[in-house]
Amino acid sequence: MKNRIISLFTLATMLISLSSCTLNVNGCSGGHKDRGNDGLCDRCNKSVVETVDFYVINDLHGKILDTANQPGLDELTTYLKMNGLSDENAIFLSAGDMWQGSSESNLTYGMMMTDWMNELGFAAMTLGNHEFDWGEEYIEACDGAAEFPFLAINVYDKDTNERVDYCQPSTVVDLGNIQIGIIGAVGDCYSSISADKVEKVYFKVGGELTELVMEESERLRREGADFIAYVLHDGYGRSSSSQDYVSPGKLSSYYDDELSSGYVDVVFEGHTHQSYVMYDNYEVYHLQAGSENRAISHVEFKVNYANGKSELTLAETVSNDIYSRYADDSIIDELSDKYADAIAEATRVLGQNRDFLSGYEVCDIVARLYLDAGLEEWGDAYDIVLGGGYLSARSPYNLYAGEVVYGDLHSILPFDNEIVLCSVSGYNLNRRFLNTDNGDYHVSLSEYGEGLGYVDYSSTYYVVVDSYTAQYAPNGLTVIAGLGPNIYARDLLAEYIENGGLE
Ligand SMILES: [Zn+2]
Ligand SMILES: [Zn+2]
Repeated sequence: MKNRIISLFTLATMLISLSSCTLNVNGCSGGHKDRGNDGLCDRCNKSVVETVDFYVINDLHGKILDTANQPGLDELTTYLKMNGLSDENAIFLSAGDMWQGSSESNLTYGMMMTDWMNELGFAAMTLGNHEFDWGEEYIEACDGAAEFPFLAINVYDKDTNERVDYCQPSTVVDLGNIQIGIIGAVGDCYSSISADKVEKVYFKVGGELTELVMEESERLRREGADFIAYVLHDGYGRSSSSQDYVSPGKLSSYYDDELSSGYVDVVFEGHTHQSYVMYDNYEVYHLQAGSENRAISHVEFKVNYANGKSELTLAETVSNDIYSRYADDSIIDELSDKYADAIAEATRVLGQNRDFLSGYEVCDIVARLYLDAGLEEWGDAYDIVLGGGYLSARSPYNLYAGEVVYGDLHSILPFDNEIVLCSVSGYNLNRRFLNTDNGDYHVSLSEYGEGLGYVDYSSTYYVVVDSYTAQYAPNGLTVIAGLGPNIYARDLLAEYIENGGLE
């Protein structure tokens, strides 16, 4: 009993000394004060300003390895490592869409990219819409491997109405004297994800998102955050080469500028693949740096931890032209070795392409290959009108003349959308496929389709599309059958090239 009293007494003494410790910030009893904002403590005259540098990547889209048309990450790695080593207050962040878009990244389902981010010590990554392309289980797997948190304050489970557990609303980076709060959110891009990959979740957007970010910011500030960065996978629709003012009206499609009135101190953006450095009504900066390793965002702030004020001292997008002058880092080769088996498919030679083909021309060919595959599989049982649907080529957007490897097709047609036979009303066939003004719809008509002449709006017709087009609700399609699992647009094109189709 006596022992217990003593230990309780000891505990109380410890608590008292602990609390006096927190009051005694860096030797200044009662904590630093800087009412005049001159950067020096009014009491102890020590500097109360720390410099913090953010290096932010958005929409890298899996571009890890060098290709003929695309720089890989070997030089950027060196650039980031040098800045991270020389500056202990450097923070690396990602604004999402990191994984989807190259063979090496897709064949490893984001793992190779996650390893690279671990190696560099990323502080956090906001989830982009394309992180959902393979389904939630792959986000969970990468989350298990990542040594940094995935952020998305607004991804909720439909059943429980709770935030999903593979991402968190925010994180805090402790830089000693200063604490940096980082809040992440995915923008209003739910409908750009194949519906079956996100059927269990929903994204809170608009006013609901604003409220979530405000609450989180208040919580972080209460807990001691001196500065708050908002990393949003959404952005402005235009690039700009000068540092421009942007009005609240122009931001309003994706950002509520009330957030700039004290809730967030800088906004890193993505998703629209534009490049800009701009400031809003409250002089809060918004940055985005293109896509696919063409540039990264860099800002520097002086943060006064005595009075919570911060001052931006540098805001720029750093172009690949600059960091590609750095030497190659060996990590990319090491990761290539680690994942050699998984990514071998990327370098498989398919054959020759005689003429340069634009992405548009590639999509036209794909529409025809959908039709041909559909006719072969279902042509006896169904009068198929057409093949195709929403098709959009990705970076490098073109198929160059010469030898083609599977990885080339993986970059242009990265999406794992299966090919399906669907029924459609005459009304939607006409409106969505035959007479659409959406230039991303490519169709190839069958003999039956060409001979159709007149579309009866109330009749049922049959089309061959991919699952993305099939699930896009406004198309009004009903899936009847699938060509099989793991056969995608690029696989039909690969087979076509192997058979000499482009020679
Ligand atoms: Zn993107
Ligand atoms: Zn995106």
